[in-house]
Amino acid sequence: EQKVVLITGCSSGIGLSLAVHLASNPSKVYKVYATMRNLDKKQRLLESVRGLHKDTMAILQMDVTDQQSILDAKRNVAEGRIDILVCNAGVGLMGPLEAHSLDTIRGILDVNLLGTLRTIQTFLPDMKRKRHGRILVTGSMGGLQGLPFNEVYCASKFAVEGACESLAILLQHFNIHVSLIECGPVNTDFLMNLKRTEASDEALEVDAHTRSLYDQYLQHCQSVFQNEAQETDDIIQVYLEAIEAPTPFLRYYTNRALLPMSSLKLTSMDGSQYIRAMSKLIFSAPDTDPKI
Ligand code: NAD
Repeated sequence: EQKVVLITGCSSGIGLSLAVHLASNPSKVYKVYATMRNLDKKQRLLESVRGLHKDTMAILQMDVTDQQSILDAKRNVAEGRIDILVCNAGVGLMGPLEAHSLDTIRGILDVNLLGTLRTIQTFLPDMKRKRHGRILVTGSMGGLQGLPFNEVYCASKFAVEGACESLAILLQHFNIHVSLIECGPVNTDFLMNLKRTEASDEALEVDAHTRSLYDQYLQHCQSVFQNEAQETDDIIQVYLEAIEAPTPFLRYYTNRALLPMSSLKLTSMDGSQYIRAMSKLIFSAPDTDPKI
């Protein structure tokens, strides 16, 4: 019997790669429901999977901010069950906090946090009844540690961590496993898709000091993505590890190089070491520090 997988946010990036990889399994182990908010964007997925594998993949419309569309997607799953639910849809937001409208902030929380909760809520009762299921969530280092100019994104991803960790404790009693795949920078459309305030934006009503720090942050961010970003294939390998493990962990880290920074939060629980180290990393680029 095929394992039925439903993935959110499959029009690009990690969701698309995971859908293609699972649907292309030569033994046809998986039946993938690749869902996306806007079906007009399905071409890229179709091209990547080289024609629709009818017996291993179906594409469904699903907007994680729209409860009805989640219910409709659920109704369109022919097998009437989901064995593996992948909550992957997400969007970034960068800029000084005071530059974001409350509507923008709500929009990010609506996708990243509420979208994940809505999706899990909708599929959980069936999994509980069957005493069987896996829930995988695309997590982020931004869900484990704060990043300047990413306050709202980090808040949304920290919140997802809290929800998943809480669920994991309960759901082991139902033979349901929750796993977070914690990603550092990944080479996807994420940077292009994220909502960003431009540092050069004249209408940006922030003080000059914030503006110059934001400029430094954007440069740091660009170089990190250029030099350290992983490919989606690397992320998929970690996904597979979690999918295939008899008893998966709550957290998988895709990039071990990022762990030392995160572990500073544990070695100095008052937060001071992490804040100092991150501040130094981001804001002391040699050419911007007058002391050097
Ligand atoms: P991406 O922008 O290519 O993919 C995100 C997908 O989510 C897109 O296909 C987008 O259409 C979809 N989406 C947005 N709003 C939606 C909605 N309301 N309903 C359904 N789908 C929606 O970027 P990605 O890197 O593949 O992002 C996937 C996940 O990985 C996100 O949750 C992101 O936060 C997380 N992540 C990405 C990175 C990175 O550097 N790329 C790092 C850490 C975590």
